[in-house]
Amino acid sequence: MTRSVTGGLVADLERLCPGGVRVDEPLARHVSFRIGGPADILVLPRSLSELAAAAAWLYRAGEPFIVLGRGSNVLVADRGVRGVVVKTGRGQDGVRYDGERVLAECGVSLPHLSRRASARGLAGLEFAAGIPGSVGGAVAMNAGAHGHALAEVVAEVRVLTPRGEARWRAAELGFRYRESRVQHEPAVVLDAVLALRRADPVETLARLDRWLRTRSETQPLGPPSSGCIFRNPGDDYAGRLIDAAGAKGLRVGGAVVSDRHANYILNTGGASAADVLALIELVRARVRARCGTELHTEIKLLGEFDPA
Ligand SMILES: Cc1cc2nc3c(=O)[nH]c(=O)nc-3n(C[C@H](O)[C@H](O)[C@H](O)COP(=O)(O)OP(=O)(O)OC[C@H]3O[C@@H](n4cnc5c(N)ncnc54)[C@H](O)[C@@H]3O)c2cc1C
Repeated sequence: MTRSVTGGLVADLERLCPGGVRVDEPLARHVSFRIGGPADILVLPRSLSELAAAAAWLYRAGEPFIVLGRGSNVLVADRGVRGVVVKTGRGQDGVRYDGERVLAECGVSLPHLSRRASARGLAGLEFAAGIPGSVGGAVAMNAGAHGHALAEVVAEVRVLTPRGEARWRAAELGFRYRESRVQHEPAVVLDAVLALRRADPVETLARLDRWLRTRSETQPLGPPSSGCIFRNPGDDYAGRLIDAAGAKGLRVGGAVVSDRHANYILNTGGASAADVLALIELVRARVRARCGTELHTEIKLLGEFDPA
């Protein structure tokens, strides 16, 4: 993108999202891995209507863009992202309760919503208390844990597509393991209706806390990461295979395979995206050689990576 094109884009986006447009913004500041170069343009809409206006304008202008939620399932390239990134979060974090149904805007924090809903005596989302994503990112990824996933509670999602606004019901969302239609078509999740069920808040919160305790005993909670790097293959666990392949503790630069949960790669300080990618390839090669299984990444790679 040339400077003059960037300048024109910035002015147009600034008109739609006043004070919310940053140029050459380091994305490491905006993702849980704390890794990644700059976005040419980062848009931080301050309301749901600003988000919708910016996305609609970008679709109309034919400008490709990436939507980022809380950045907890991505690896951003060291050279960053050319073009526009739109980040949801503050300003799209409204929640409305209507009986057993919850309308949550895309930027709502999943752990926050999980705890608040449980405390109100609404069960079904307590599995998500330890998943540090947004509602939009969790719908896109069909995030899940403890044998449950978003697909079980999403009734309907309002999306913005290049053809305008639409409502996709659960059956139209193509939910599969860590996958949804949102990953395969241009669409911004604006908000989601979750169908929960009435339950005793004390019991619901107790289950939530039990699951959180299990996580803290089995997963590394300190250094920055993007959670599980690989999808579980078939009925097996990527973490078990990585452990069996003797890859725990493998390191490239500042990136290391966690000793606690082998499917986590940790940024132990100053890791680059190239370090993480090299480590991913090392782990895949080990698992392929020792277990005969091909691992595929769950995290999304964003931006300009070297073809090698
Ligand atoms: C410590 C840790 C633990 C984790 N544990 C789990 C776990 O137990 N289970 C699990 O499933 N995941 C887990 N994750 C991964 C991650 O939290 C989830 O995938 C989460 O749902 C991602 O949400 P996000 O807002 O961070 O999305 P991002 O990482 O910002 O984006 C992920 C994808 O969703 C898309 N996206 C985001 N928002 C929108 C939107 N509004 N509209 C359209 N597309 C959008 C992005 O373009 C991208 O393709 C963990 C991550 C960490 C760091």
